[in-house]
Amino acid sequence: MSIDSDELTSWYREFQRDLPWRRPGVTAWQILVSEFMLQQTPVARVEPIWLDWIARWPTPSATAAAGVGEVLRAWGKLGYPRRAKRLHECAVTIAAEHGDVVPADVETLLTLPGVGAYTARAVACFAYAARVPVVDTNVRRVVARAVHGRADSPASVRDLADVSALLPDSDAAPVFSAALMELGATVCTARNPRCGICPLSACLWRTAGYPAPTGPARKVQRYAGTDRQARGRLLDVLRTNSFPVTRAQLDVAWLSDTAQRDRALDSLLVDGLVEQTPDGRFALAGEGENT
Ligand code: SF4
Repeated sequence: MSIDSDELTSWYREFQRDLPWRRPGVTAWQILVSEFMLQQTPVARVEPIWLDWIARWPTPSATAAAGVGEVLRAWGKLGYPRRAKRLHECAVTIAAEHGDVVPADVETLLTLPGVGAYTARAVACFAYAARVPVVDTNVRRVVARAVHGRADSPASVRDLADVSALLPDSDAAPVFSAALMELGATVCTARNPRCGICPLSACLWRTAGYPAPTGPARKVQRYAGTDRQARGRLLDVLRTNSFPVTRAQLDVAWLSDTAQRDRALDSLLVDGLVEQTPDGRFALAGEGENT
């Protein structure tokens, strides 16, 4: 069971997308920022925000010196804004405890705020060329299809060992990892795999005639009407106002369900993304004091 490294990496060298965080001169910190942003947000939405972000805050210490509110504003509509707060905490830790340099090894990366198993490996691999398995949903799907002959496979504790066994035993491992991910993102996609242009000549799923998935169908996550959308609307109000706002100004942002609006606001306060001023108005975190 294997994936031909030459087939995959030759294809990648020719067809990879020109993503700004892959360009020469991008630092480990800037790669880490891209990984935070890309966790649950598509490339097209991340790209402009990432470019503005690193122009404004190119280093951990520059990010750490910014207020949480500023960081939440710059995060814009990337969604899941807790990531922005965790990224700020991560910057503070790297600036204070690691000499403003992103650690290179997975174990130390895992001690940083907001850095989980995937992000730690992605940064070690893409920023420091470490030979470590990097497994996201795209990689898992390509391996399930090409290597195991299955339509897809759920996340499993065996994923890392599985992908580790596929890595070439050489300096080519980081490019192989990037190429595997790119193939899943652009060619071997979940709904429409484009086998006609795929570089992998020995894909077991294709050879087997595309057997149907065996597990339960994956639920499509809806956004409209969710607490997440309500939180986003409330944050939008705060982001677009330079000064704290009243409860009435927040209320008009979500009129359809008052209980849901209260729940969303409470959760933003609990998450530390929003704070209340002494006179009862609301502001982004760090911006409610002295007003
Ligand atoms: S041949 Fe098709 S199913 Fe197999 S890895 Fe390539 S795109 Fe995916």
